[in-house]
Amino acid sequence: MTRALIIGGGIGGPVAAAALRRVGVDAVVYEAHPGPGDGLGAFLSLAPNGLAGLDTLGMLDPVLAASAFPSTHIELVNHRGRRLGLVGDGSDRLPGHLSDRLRTVTVNRDALQRALAETALDQRVPIEYSRRCTGYTEGPDGVVAEFADGSTAEGDVLIGADGLHSRVRGVMDPDAPRPDYTGVIGSGGHVPALDVEPTPPGTVRMVFGRRAFFGYQTTPQGGVFWFANLGHSELTREEIAARGDDEWKRTTLDAFAGDLPVITTILEAEAPARLRPLSSYDMAALPRWHRGRAGLLGDAAHAVSSSSGQGASLAIEDALVLARCLRDIPAVPEALAEYEAQRRDRVRRIVAEGRRRSNQKLGSDHPVALVFRDLMLRTVFAVISRFDGTSWIHGHRVDLDAPARAGSGPRA
Ligand SMILES: Cc1cc2nc3c(=O)[nH]c(=O)nc-3n(C[C@H](O)[C@H](O)[C@H](O)COP(=O)(O)OP(=O)(O)OC[C@H]3O[C@@H](n4cnc5c(N)ncnc54)[C@H](O)[C@@H]3O)c2cc1C
Repeated sequence: MTRALIIGGGIGGPVAAAALRRVGVDAVVYEAHPGPGDGLGAFLSLAPNGLAGLDTLGMLDPVLAASAFPSTHIELVNHRGRRLGLVGDGSDRLPGHLSDRLRTVTVNRDALQRALAETALDQRVPIEYSRRCTGYTEGPDGVVAEFADGSTAEGDVLIGADGLHSRVRGVMDPDAPRPDYTGVIGSGGHVPALDVEPTPPGTVRMVFGRRAFFGYQTTPQGGVFWFANLGHSELTREEIAARGDDEWKRTTLDAFAGDLPVITTILEAEAPARLRPLSSYDMAALPRWHRGRAGLLGDAAHAVSSSSGQGASLAIEDALVLARCLRDIPAVPEALAEYEAQRRDRVRRIVAEGRRRSNQKLGSDHPVALVFRDLMLRTVFAVISRFDGTSWIHGHRVDLDAPARAGSGPRA
């Protein structure tokens, strides 16, 4: 197998192409946008499991150099600022040389996508921009991708890394279920300079407000990254846009009225356009992630709620497992089936965990309900900290050099 067509140059696409290149498969990435860094959202956190995958591929240092800063701990507080728990990512238990490299970081999304794309290019992975895939056809010996500009490309395997609303998924399985709405709309941003009390080093503070949920971390440069989640019925992008930025600013400020004052300070300092939210989705139960010579990866296969902080890291894990399977299993459909089989259970568990965290964020304005909520959350976070309850997520590693399955062995 010699040539892979990868649709989507967000996070999973360039990483998958680099992983395939590493195992001797030529891969070309086709991205709809005119360049890297048109991602949704201002920033994201990359967890130790995702960072370890990038390290395997020589992509970690450029990402860390892209102004990434540590976010190893989450401090959970109630609407008055009383601490409900402190949860670490477990990186402080890694051996010294790894605890500095594989600790959760926050990174500007555009800078992350640029760093991944540039590193992939350095590794001789071509990325073609302004190439929107509209469909594909499959024959006995290969697959042909079709693009909006009328062009085509031929390969042995086609991978849809084209995100939540994947076109490849729609062609592969027109009856595939659509993503599930999580009940939460979210906005987020970055205020480059703001005079607020700094959060403890390496710590994101997350506030269970009375009606909504807020997270923020001050940056070493004196700015603030923040996000807000509000319980709401599902809204399309058009419906959200129709309400106008000023109304969204009012809605968001109202949702946090009477909660920790720093929230209002941050929201008031942000550009109103940044308070325009997005509906948040997940998708666990896709019946199949592959058919014939086409497969799906990252959000196209299994979106997780942003509350999990794992979407990017799962896409990176997918990329490594996919490369290992295509390296060791000569028949493409069989390799894709093995890839799906190895990923499905872990992904299902993490999607469920993200959904659980999303539900916890939904507030209640009733004082008694708030007392019970705080009690319940204190207990939950105490158990998570005591029993290292996130290690199954953050401690996961994919060994690219291991055989894809017992007895398959890397091919020469
Ligand atoms: C607000 C928000 C906050 C988040 N926070 C976090 C976080 O803190 N940590 C975390 O790990 N995850 C987070 N996530 C989830 C994370 O962004 C995704 O899981 C991750 O981006 C998935 O990577 P991907 O490569 O599968 O898809 P994407 O990053 O969405 O990339 C898909 C790419 O495909 C391109 N594309 C789409 N259609 C086509 C087409 N037809 N032809 C060619 N190209 C196409 C798109 O332009 C895009 O570049 C968050 C998500 C949101 C919305």
